[in-house]
Amino acid sequence: SKSTGKDKFSFFSKDLHFAMQSRIKTEAKLRKAIKENALTLFYQPKYDLNTMQIIGAECLVRLIDADGSVIPPDEFIPLAEETGLIHELGAQVMRKACDFIRSSEREGRPIKLAVNVSAQQIANQAFADEVEDIIRVSEIDPSLLELEVTESALMADFEEIKDMLTALKRLGLSLALDDFGTGYSSLSYLRRFPLQVLKIDKSFVQDMDTDSQAFDIVNAIVRLALSLNLALVAEGIETEQHLTALKELGCFTGQGYLMCRPLAENAFLRKYLSEQSS
Ligand code: C2E
Ligand code: CA
Ligand code: CA
Ligand code: CA
Repeated sequence: SKSTGKDKFSFFSKDLHFAMQSRIKTEAKLRKAIKENALTLFYQPKYDLNTMQIIGAECLVRLIDADGSVIPPDEFIPLAEETGLIHELGAQVMRKACDFIRSSEREGRPIKLAVNVSAQQIANQAFADEVEDIIRVSEIDPSLLELEVTESALMADFEEIKDMLTALKRLGLSLALDDFGTGYSSLSYLRRFPLQVLKIDKSFVQDMDTDSQAFDIVNAIVRLALSLNLALVAEGIETEQHLTALKELGCFTGQGYLMCRPLAENAFLRKYLSEQSS
């Protein structure tokens, strides 16, 4: 009937209205945090799965709301990409990560950090020069910096992406392929781009113990990494079963809630220091 149609319409328009309002609010918070240099980094430790020593960390950006609540990246990274704010966001994250590396070096216990980089940043011709500047200003040992790029970043013009990755690699940092297996993988990328690390996506890791296909996929990824001489990192390790299966297959580096959630800087440092001394 007509009235049902009208109800439906107002329901959807209300929904849309709220979605737009929330988007506008998030964008305003993001702009403010970028302007005030107030983006926050969380750090998730990466472990040697044999010794359970922390061997580095992944930086994960957060927006902290006025009331102290934490806004996760899935709520603002896509928005940052749509609005072009991703370039400034990415530069701020990179500067903060490099400052953290620098202070860890000064304190005589250098920590290797991985920073997530969006496809749009890789596609920006000036990106390698910007990273070079940040490394120079922060005076870090560039081998302590790793960039995690997703397969979608490799989908643009082949020569341009290859030149960009080669220029980044020349700065002395390392390059990891993130979320491996979830994108439009062409295996030839792995040979043709200067990558050093494969990150096994958590969707495979988490299904390994219940789904034999997921187990087979992880097995294949491990063999591939071994034969191409790439380092491996598994993400999303949540249970002892995940851990055992990964080690059985020959993956000896990883991160996940089983060992540690992403932590604010101070909490991460406390954990890192207490595990170093124990
Ligand atoms: P990602 O790069 O795949 O990062 C891994 C995500 O899995 C993180 O979510 C992390 O907190 C979460 N995680 C870690 N261990 C576990 C686990 O055991 N179980 C489960 N279920 N999840 C786990 P987070 O921090 O919410 O980040 C989500 C995504 O946002 C990241 O996925 C990355 O794509 C993006 N992101 C985060 N920080 C940045 C950044 O600085 N720049 C860009 N461009 N993207 C970022
Ligand atoms: Ca990542
Ligand atoms: Ca992932
Ligand atoms: Ca991701």
